[in-house]
Amino acid sequence: MPEQTESESRKLLRRLRDAMAEDSAGQARLDKITYLTADSMGTEVCSVYLFRDPETLELCATEGLKPEAVHQTRMKLGEGLVGRVARSGKIINTANAPQEKGFRFMPETGEEIYSSFLGVPIQRLGEKLGVLVVQSKQAREFSGDELYALEVVAMVLAEMTELGAFLGEGAALSARHQQSVLIRGTTAQEGAAEGHVWLHEPRVVITNPISDDPQKELERLTEAVDKLRVSVDQMLANTGDKEQMEVLEAYRMFANSKGWMRRMEADIARGLTAEAAVEKEQSTARNRMEQVTDAYLRERLHDLDDLSNRLLRILTGQGNETGAEMPSDPILVARNIGPAELLDYGRSLRGIVLEEGSVGSHAAIVARALAIPLVIRAGRITTEALNGNLIMVDGDQGVVHLRPEDTVASAFRDKIAMQAQAQERYASIRDKPAETLCGRVISLHMNAGLMADLPSLEGSGAEGVGLFRTELQFLVRNKMPKRSELSALYARVLDAAKGKRVVFRTLDIGSDKVLPYMKPNDEPNPALGWRAIRVGLDKPGVMRMQLQALIRAAQGRPMTIMFPFVAQYSEYLAAKAEMDKAMARERILGHPVPATLEVGAMLETPSLAFAPHAFFEEVQFLSIGGNDLKQFFFAADRENERVRRRYDTLNVSFLTFLEDIVERCRVSSTPLSFCGEDAGRPVEAVCLAAIGMETLSMRPASIGPVKSILRRTNLDALRDVIHAARDRGDESVRPAVMEYLARQV
Ligand code: PEP
Ligand code: MG
Repeated sequence: MPEQTESESRKLLRRLRDAMAEDSAGQARLDKITYLTADSMGTEVCSVYLFRDPETLELCATEGLKPEAVHQTRMKLGEGLVGRVARSGKIINTANAPQEKGFRFMPETGEEIYSSFLGVPIQRLGEKLGVLVVQSKQAREFSGDELYALEVVAMVLAEMTELGAFLGEGAALSARHQQSVLIRGTTAQEGAAEGHVWLHEPRVVITNPISDDPQKELERLTEAVDKLRVSVDQMLANTGDKEQMEVLEAYRMFANSKGWMRRMEADIARGLTAEAAVEKEQSTARNRMEQVTDAYLRERLHDLDDLSNRLLRILTGQGNETGAEMPSDPILVARNIGPAELLDYGRSLRGIVLEEGSVGSHAAIVARALAIPLVIRAGRITTEALNGNLIMVDGDQGVVHLRPEDTVASAFRDKIAMQAQAQERYASIRDKPAETLCGRVISLHMNAGLMADLPSLEGSGAEGVGLFRTELQFLVRNKMPKRSELSALYARVLDAAKGKRVVFRTLDIGSDKVLPYMKPNDEPNPALGWRAIRVGLDKPGVMRMQLQALIRAAQGRPMTIMFPFVAQYSEYLAAKAEMDKAMARERILGHPVPATLEVGAMLETPSLAFAPHAFFEEVQFLSIGGNDLKQFFFAADRENERVRRRYDTLNVSFLTFLEDIVERCRVSSTPLSFCGEDAGRPVEAVCLAAIGMETLSMRPASIGPVKSILRRTNLDALRDVIHAARDRGDESVRPAVMEYLARQV
């Protein structure tokens, strides 16, 4: 880069900074920027187009085009050259604009006389704000240095927009991060919550993008990068986790990358401060991230993004650790979060919104266990939300209202109030049985997985814990828990249950649940792969340790254990044999054994429903894992958004299948329960009860609504409705059931 251009661009930045410092209105500032840019670049035209709404750009200031076009000329995203720059986020540099594809002539601006066009996106960290354009009569392509200078101006504009520098009378610009935004994501945990944003990784605000002391800025950058390198090395030395190590290695690679450093140094030489230079490179990387489809590359770009954030925090001293106070009603907003970090926040959170995540991710499992409404795949939430913003999370619909309008907020509050009223009604029947109008009593239990769940046992009115998912204890640690730790924890669970039955499910890992400290298996189809009891039987060490921990936890009290994902009789027998051996070992060691021991299996694969009669005779109880059973019955992945809701649980085929299982259990007098998510959905729950399911296990919060509907339903009559729908040839019994319930309940 010639020294000449370098100082030109610095000069321009200095002039911009002085203009910004003047006490003028927003529009006057914008006008000044366009004047200074055109003047310094020697072009006849410089214009700023900003987003009016997500689809429309508006000419907000211009030097050279007709002044009356300002705030009048608008274009749709993708329309004309400006719209193209905005949509693609890519620069257009042409000597002959009228001949460019997509050129749109706008007579009100008088732009037809200009031949050259250079348009760069105005964006901040991947958030598109508008387009900055220079035009000139002379037909020429702009040089690399000119292009660079304009990019730097665009960056400064973006920073200033963020700081609200262009607001005010006549500017017709709304402030960034003040409009209300509706973001559609995917529900991962139901429930509605209102609160204020708490960013897991706060946005760094840059107040001074321009500097005319490049030497000082270079020193600041070098010092910060040195600190960053040391901290990455320290993190690497302290982790034993393989996946984390991979990420940290990527961090280290970027932190030592000469290219990255060189680009930032060049940015500083052209007049940016160290933090503005970091952010400029971060913006470019984010832009690339949107275009990259390769999952591995995207991950690496994410790593670079995280690293840039760290560097920015070092440079600005900003961060959660530096004073910002968590609101009393925090809604956690993050790109993604690990289960252990989420547990650290614990129940203090009202809701969680993640930009990424999946229904089966560990964070989602923990959120579900804590019953915190969770919306995942909420695109752009980390860019849109600021700490302290009002936010409403609709976990039922998978929707997030950020800075909602009053009408939306009050409608949402009505919804929460109605739910609260319903909760009060449920509380009034908490100690009453789930007795139906036809006199049947359904046994309602709760699903749990953390110590923190246990207080719900009393509050929810559950008769016991129908499913205790033991894998959570394994998932939230970064090394295998010890037997003594597990035993102490299970004992505390039993203490908290105060004699109520707790069904401990042995470790269910594999598929979506991968332990951080276990070598991940690259399986083509993990849901159908080496998981749950299959792992337990092939590598029995962990299972033996867990069984021993469970027996010891009982301290002579009754104990109930079930094995997940049993697909055939022999697997149950093998698992039971391990159980018997563990008991025998404990006896030999002279340890007390449980007063009674019940051993059961989860029916999660269709195959087990057709197991020999001897299996049903042998097993002490069965629990249908409806989430898995349904996915295998319909061959529809429970994690795949495209298909996971495609088939109705109340589909006649599935209900008939479940009814057959009920019948087989009746013949062999095998106690049967249902513990998938559907047990907690009131309409599904009454149907399950109507076809003969006597015990349902669900999230604690569902017990009230399910009990309430059961107490108002005649299951005999409902079963007739279900059978009539089936005999009529309905695909799903839902319409008939809904109609019946609407009349009865
Ligand atoms: C199920 O599959 O229905 C079940 C209860 O187990 P999980 O959801 O933990 O796989
Ligand atoms: Mg399961």
